[in-house]
Amino acid sequence: MKIGVIGGGQLGRMLALAGTPLGMRFAFLDPAADACAAGLGEHVQADYSSETHLRQLADSVDLVTFEFESVPAETVDFLSQFVPVYPSAQALRIARDRWFEKSLFRELGIPTPEFADIQSQADLEAAVANIGLPAVLKTRTLGYDGKGQKVLRSATDVAGTFAELGSVPCLLEGFVPFTGEVSLVAVRARDGETRFYPLVHNTHDAGILKLSVASDEHPLQALAEDYVGRVLNALDYVGVLAFEFFEVGGGLKANEIAPRVHNSGHWTIEGAECSQFENHLRAIAGLPLGSTAKVGESAMLNFIGEVPPVEQAVAIQGCHLHHYGKAFKPGRKVGHATVRTADASALQAGIAKVQALIGN
Ligand code: AMP
Repeated sequence: MKIGVIGGGQLGRMLALAGTPLGMRFAFLDPAADACAAGLGEHVQADYSSETHLRQLADSVDLVTFEFESVPAETVDFLSQFVPVYPSAQALRIARDRWFEKSLFRELGIPTPEFADIQSQADLEAAVANIGLPAVLKTRTLGYDGKGQKVLRSATDVAGTFAELGSVPCLLEGFVPFTGEVSLVAVRARDGETRFYPLVHNTHDAGILKLSVASDEHPLQALAEDYVGRVLNALDYVGVLAFEFFEVGGGLKANEIAPRVHNSGHWTIEGAECSQFENHLRAIAGLPLGSTAKVGESAMLNFIGEVPPVEQAVAIQGCHLHHYGKAFKPGRKVGHATVRTADASALQAGIAKVQALIGN
C-alpha cells in the first residue's frame, strides 16, 4: 500500500519509519527542497495548491493523510475527489480554525474557556469588556508553538493588538489559571473502534512543548476519554487525534485538538505497545488497531534549536534519540529523546540527565 502524506516534516518522517515495516510505501507533498521526510519516500516538491501536483499525488497512492493542520481545506477537498483522505476535510476544517473548534466543544458540552470571535479592534474591546482580563488573543488559523497569540493583562495590552496580530480573524479566550496541561492521544478506526493512550503531562516554555511525561492511571483519564470520544464520534473521525486540555479545579477545560499525530505522543514509539504513528497508519489503512498500553515509564524531551552530541545522548540509560535531520535553527524542533525505564524513579533520573545535556 502506498500512502500520500501532505507535508514532509518530522511527523511525516516518523509515519514512514513506522509504516515501512508494515510494507507501506510513502510519497510526501512538500514545497521545501530539504523536507526531512523526503529520504523515506518519493518527494513531490510542489505547492499545496498546485492542482497538477495534487492530481499526480492522488494518482500514485492508495490513500492520503496529512501531517499538519495548516493544509488548506481546499487541498483536501480537491484530493478527496480522486483518492480517500483520512482524516476527512470536515475534521480538518474544524480543527484548523479555533472558532469552529471551540464552537464544537461547546456544542458537545465539553468545558472550554469563554471565547469570542474577533474581526476588528472594536470586537476585541467589546469582548474584553465581556470576558474580562487577563485573556488570550489568538489568530483563528495558522498559529502553532505559541505563535500568533498574545496574553492581554491590561488595557494597554488591548490597544492596537488586533493589528499587531495581523488584522486577521482572531479568537479571544478567557485566561485559564491552570494547574497543569495534559493531552490525550486517541485513535479511531474506519469501523469506529476507538483506543486511547494514557494521559500525558506537558510542560511548555514560551509556547513550545519541552517535556511530556506519560501518566499512570491518571484520575482524569476517564473524563478525558469521554470528552475526546464525543469529538471523534461527532466527526466520524478516522486516524489519530490529539486533544490538549488545561487541568483546572480538579477537572478539565478543552484547549485545542490536532487532527494528526502529535508531539505529545512521540513517547509511544518506545513507550507503548503500538506507537501513535503505526496506529494512525493502521486506522487509515483499515487494519486492526494496535494496543495503546504503556510499556514501562516514559518521558519525551524536545530538542529545540539543536540536537545534543549523539554519543552523549545515547550513553544515557534508557534514552532513545530521534534526530530529524533538519537544519539547526533557534526555536525549531530538530529532534527529541524518549527516556523509557522500568520504574518512575529511574525515569526521573533519566529526565534529569537529558535536561543536563541540553542545558535546562
Ligand atoms: P495553544 O497554541 O492554544 O496551545 O497555546 C499555547 C500555550 O499557551 C498553551 O499550551 C498554554 O500554556 C498557553 N495558553 C493558551 N491558551 C491559554 C488560556 N486560555 N489560558 C491560559 N494559558 C493559555
